[in-house]
Amino acid sequence: MPNQSNKVVIFLGPPGAGKGTQAERLAAEQQLLKISTGDILRDHVTRNTELGQQVKPLLDAGHLVPDDILIALIRDRLASLDPVRVIFDGFPRTTAQAQELDVLLEELGAPVSAVPLLEVPDDVLIARIVERGKTSGRSDDTEEVARNRQTVYRDQTQPLIDYYAARGQVHTINGVGSMDEVYGRIRDAVN
Ligand code: AMP
Repeated sequence: MPNQSNKVVIFLGPPGAGKGTQAERLAAEQQLLKISTGDILRDHVTRNTELGQQVKPLLDAGHLVPDDILIALIRDRLASLDPVRVIFDGFPRTTAQAQELDVLLEELGAPVSAVPLLEVPDDVLIARIVERGKTSGRSDDTEEVARNRQTVYRDQTQPLIDYYAARGQVHTINGVGSMDEVYGRIRDAVN
């Protein structure tokens, strides 16, 4: 029997759109576990684990990490949750990941609840990432890698928007405005 209080939010949007910050706030307010695959992978790089050594060059270049690695990480994170109350930030990034996630969620009896999509114009994204790079310490927050990440997003991640749109689950949100304004739009969309 699916648990009534299960909630699965998938936060989509290009790098630099502000997903991380906004997802954190929504997670705190709605008792959701925020699962940021970028944070998980960066943590492996920092701890210099075997996985960290394997993925570091990909993160540095702004390329995607192979789907099977991501699926294994997510399977592991979801395994012990009951109820399943999560918000994904930066996952799925490919249609293959979205399909695999559906299989996992089906097993758990916790279908996708909502898919907010944060939209921000390209020039604003690059400027935000370069600005963030001044304090983030992230090796991929440079203009060159940021441009590459936008290309990867367009080529590999944007197609999966159709995957959720076909089910009527995508809520497009204007990501330009103050943190509070944008957050208000997201909360309205998810509720
Ligand atoms: P993010 O913090 O979400 O911008 O992710 C930073 C980097 O981690 C990306 O540029 C990818 O190299 C890697 N990454 C994070 N999430 C994924 C994912 N779902 N699939 C593949 N690579 C990912």
